[in-house]
Order: sequence, then C-alpha cells, then structure tokens
Amino acid sequence: MASPSPSRAAGHRVVFFPFPYQGHFNPVLRLAGALHARGVAVTVFHTDLRAPDPADYPSDYRFVSVPVHVPPELVASEDIARLVMELNASCAEPFKEHLTALLAEEGEEAGGVRCVITDVIWYSAQAAARELGVPALGFMTSSAASFRSFMVYPALIEKGYLPVQEENKDDPVEVLPPFRVKDLQRIETSSLADFATLLGHTVDGARKSSGLIINTVEAIEAVDLDMIRVDMSIPVFAVGPLNKLAPPVKSSLYELQQDRRCLDWLGKQAPGSVVYVSFGSLAAMDPHEFVELAWGLAASKRPFIWVVRPSLIRGFESGDLPRGFWDEVGDRGRIVDWAPQDEVLAHPAVGAFLTHNGWNSTMEAVSEGVPMISRPFLGDQYGNAMFVCHVWKVGVEVQVDNQLERGKIQDAIAELMENKEGREIRERITKLKETAEKSIEESGLSHTAFLNLAGLIFSL
Ligand code: UDP
Repeated sequence: MASPSPSRAAGHRVVFFPFPYQGHFNPVLRLAGALHARGVAVTVFHTDLRAPDPADYPSDYRFVSVPVHVPPELVASEDIARLVMELNASCAEPFKEHLTALLAEEGEEAGGVRCVITDVIWYSAQAAARELGVPALGFMTSSAASFRSFMVYPALIEKGYLPVQEENKDDPVEVLPPFRVKDLQRIETSSLADFATLLGHTVDGARKSSGLIINTVEAIEAVDLDMIRVDMSIPVFAVGPLNKLAPPVKSSLYELQQDRRCLDWLGKQAPGSVVYVSFGSLAAMDPHEFVELAWGLAASKRPFIWVVRPSLIRGFESGDLPRGFWDEVGDRGRIVDWAPQDEVLAHPAVGAFLTHNGWNSTMEAVSEGVPMISRPFLGDQYGNAMFVCHVWKVGVEVQVDNQLERGKIQDAIAELMENKEGREIRERITKLKETAEKSIEESGLSHTAFLNLAGLIFSL
C-alpha cells in the first residue's frame, strides 16, 4: 500500500460527486472530510438543483456547479427511479465538460486529479470520467446487503418475488437470505421496471469502476461484503461508520437550518429519557398518519424531539398540528425543521430513535448505541429495518405494513423504553456500538480499509 501523504501541497486532488439527496450527500462529504484530513485536495461537483453551502466546509474545498435540466414536476414528484435516471441523462455532458476543464487547469500542477468518487447511482458520471481516462470509484451510500439486492434484482423479478403481493410478503427470499419478500427494496411511487433498470445501470457502472466504497462495518455485514467481493472483481472498501471517522456535515441540501436550540433543551432532560423522531429527508406520510403520530407521541408521556420538515406531510402545512396537541405536550416536546442529528443521537438524554431506517440514520444510531423503533417507508429502508429488528435485534417495529396509529406508537415506545425486552435490546445495541467503535480504532477493519482506500487513491 502506498503511504497516504499528509501534505495537500503534494497535490492529490479527488473530485467527489455526491447525489443531491441528503442521505446520499452526507456520507460522500464525510468521506471527503476524512480524506482531506489525510492530505487529499477536495473538489466537490454538485448539481445546480441542490447546492451545499461552501461556508460549511474547509476554505480550501472547491465547489463546481453542474447544471442539470429535469422537469420541475418530476423533481417535485415521488417517482424517484425516473428522476434519478433523468438526472443521470441530464448530467453526463455537463459533468464531462466541467471535469475536462478541471483536468486542463490542474494539468501538470501538483499531481492533478487522481480520481473521481461518485455515488454509485451517478452511473453516467462514472462513465463520463472513464471516457476521459480518469479512474472512477463508486460510493454505495446504503448497506452491503442493499447493494447485494441490487445485484440480484433481475432474479427477484424473474422468480416472482417482486412485486410484493399480499400472499407472498412473508415468504423467505431464497436468493437473498435473510430477506423476506416484504423486506425487498422497492419504491411504490415508481414503476418496478424503471427501478430495475436504474439498479441495473448502477451495478454495471460499479463493475467497471476502480473500486466500491461502502459506508458499513465489516464485522456487521461480513457475509454480504464477501459475496460482493466474490461477484465483482474490484476492491471493496467497508469504511463505516463514516459519521465517526469524519467531521459532521452541517448543510441541509433543502435550505433548512439546523435547529440547535433543541440541544439546550436536551441538556435539561434525564439520561435515556428522550425519543428522537426523524424520518430522514425523503419519506412522506399522509396527513392522517401525521396526526396519529402526533397523538402517539403525546400519549407516550415521554419527552421527544420530532423533525417535521416541510415535505414530510403530503399536501399539509407542518404547522398544522392537531388542536390541543401543545396543551397536552407543553414543554415535553420539541418540533424542529431539521435537527443536528449527529449531536442529538450522541446526546446521553436520548433513549430511543423512531426512524425510517435510512442507512445513514441506522449507522448513526448503531454507532451511538441508540435503540430504534423502525418504521420504513421506501427503498432500502425495509431491508435495513429487518436487519435492525430481526437480525441484530436492536429495535422494535411499528406498523411496517400499515398506516401509523397512535396506540401502536405509544405501545412501541413503552416496549422499547420500559419493558424487559427493551432492556435486552439496549444491551445488544451497546455491544453493536462497541463493534462499530472497534472498527474505526487504529488497525480496526474500517480504519484499515480507509487507509487502503487512501493508498489506492495516492497510487492512481
Ligand atoms: N439528518 C439531519 N437532520 C435531520 C434529519 C436527518 O442531519 O433533521 C441527516 C441524518 O443524520 C442522515 C441524513 O440526514 O445523515 C439522512 O440520511 P438517511 O440515509 O438516514 O435517510 P434519507 O434522507 O436518505 O431517507
């Protein structure tokens, strides 16, 4: 392994191209932060659709805006598969032009551009980089198990597991243990054919890449990582949990300000007493569910912080809480547009996380030892929730198959925070946290994988 240089003056520039969703953006920028600390010069290409604020990053980061043209109604829609493919189609040429310009500029100066690291779902940017002779590495922002499900997706359709049907939803998926049919990734608001096409492009792109980076922990996902390694003849780097390896990412891509006042309020709560409720950046619920959730939290009698970003409720204003809600809750609850989630989960007052099980949220909870109440909404979240509740057994499910109901939410909170089962879950997540911590210690597997990745980059 070539030894990573501590000096950016030696000139090792890497172009990072995160996908413009928060859950895709954060881990890529965290990796950029960790490599920057090792001497990599960072250029972030981002779409003009959603731009990060450069003020949130080190002053020597360079930001390059890549224009994309997709119909606004598609951006606003929940047809995520079609949107991702349109973004790919639209970004290929401008990405190539900007990379060409950067290569000309960096040219001989200080070693030039070593490689690009893009989200694996930016398959068109990966191809564009390769056409220019620049090595491209893919970044999988979800789990290894999720990537493995990308790989077998055609077989899942061919063998009739997908689409999920009422009569087969509990069946085991033989080509993808330990998944049951209902745990399989899917986006109900996109066509299955579109989603399968998108995943096909993604896997093809990754196969041609110079390496696959995954924000996961070898000891937690060893089986899936091994299967990926056997199937794809490229290096695979399990470098998670990146939230512990790198500085926090402050920006919300959706122009929402982090509400840091909730940290002061958390400071006044008893250890392990608070329920943190967040469904990430994409999930949307019907107004009816929102009202049920509000009353479920009120009835739990627990202190809570609830992230209600404007897009959480379909066709609803976030301020429209049910009448009488605040009379019932008083100072026991905080509602914020956007939370400093890293810090909230790390706070000793937080005792449970009601989550959609986006992969970042899942890794963040694991690495802080916070047990979960799982309520997946789409995509990989079903599978992540299955691992949390049935494989690692560090969480309880709430109404995965149905719309949220207040009584079920109240029961799930009590189960996790008051009952014997909850105590066992807390013990298990403490152990899982220790596993994650060990992986990023000097000579831990994630730490070693990260150094190997840096070595590869410096050798390109
Ligand atoms: N996040 C945050 N504040 C919030 C909600 C989410 O900082 O109020 C961050 C969270 O820490 C995570 C990311 O946004 O890093 C969401 O990613 P995840 O994969 O959990 O879900 P997605 O948004 O992709 O559904």
